[in-house]
Amino acid sequence: MPTACPLCAGAAQTPWLTKNGYALVRCSTCGLIFVSPLPSAEALRAHYSDPAYFAGEVEQGYRDYAAMHVALRPHFLRRLRSLEASHPALGRLLDFGCADGYFLQLAQARGWQVTGVELSTDMAHAAAQTLNAPVLTDPAALGAATFDAVTLWEVIEHLPDPLAQLRALYARLRPGGTLMLSTPNTGHWQAQRRPELWQSYRPPSHLLYLTAPTLTHLLDAAGFTEIEVMRTHPLPALPGWFDRLTQPLQAALATGQGRAWALRLYAWRLIRLAAWAGHRLLRPRDEVHATLEARATRPR
Ligand SMILES: [Zn+2]
Repeated sequence: MPTACPLCAGAAQTPWLTKNGYALVRCSTCGLIFVSPLPSAEALRAHYSDPAYFAGEVEQGYRDYAAMHVALRPHFLRRLRSLEASHPALGRLLDFGCADGYFLQLAQARGWQVTGVELSTDMAHAAAQTLNAPVLTDPAALGAATFDAVTLWEVIEHLPDPLAQLRALYARLRPGGTLMLSTPNTGHWQAQRRPELWQSYRPPSHLLYLTAPTLTHLLDAAGFTEIEVMRTHPLPALPGWFDRLTQPLQAALATGQGRAWALRLYAWRLIRLAAWAGHRLLRPRDEVHATLEARATRPR
């Protein structure tokens, strides 16, 4: 049985792509791309309880998450600064899908009172120890707690019922509170025209594939206002030979393991910037940013 659209509940869908034995479809009503039929709850549980998910399995999970801290740090700090611009008094922060708690560590050091939710028991345990703060494997265990800010970094695309989850998180925000999230940008030209190159087509880990319009629609449907969607991480077209030649550099940056990491990062940014300018000239309407970041408010 095909799954109804998780955003608009529409039943009409057209085939989009088949990968890893899963069918991705596009909703004919709202344009959302998602896995249909959805894998069963048991299948998803088994997938995430595999220890390989957070260590070593490149295709589905994370290349050693702990080694990625150096790569994640500048983005996490930028996002915290952005959050703090509207919450100068800081307050209570919930990171939903907090992995080993690295984002919460940075937030805690800046004065936020932190709580995590992480479905992987091992990760949740490690995070709770590092943070000396509550990290729950079941969101229901949050009880009646409310928060000034809720974050979901690369999490929403994993959720079988994203709308219900966002509504539940909305209810956990105090009026005037902020939700921030990030997710791969399926509006990227590769995702649209060269799906075989787009690494974020990753079922069964990724169940939905958002673009700026469908992400805006999703946040709006969950009740949020002041929705801002930003495109980050330019990933322009590079000639195939050049892409292959620079694979070791790209891998070192993605895992945070390269020596002189900052220097390599800036060199790589310059290359991408030049390629982006070229791409812009040749295909001015293409989206070249690999990531979407959104912030939204629970109205007062
Ligand atoms: Zn739909």
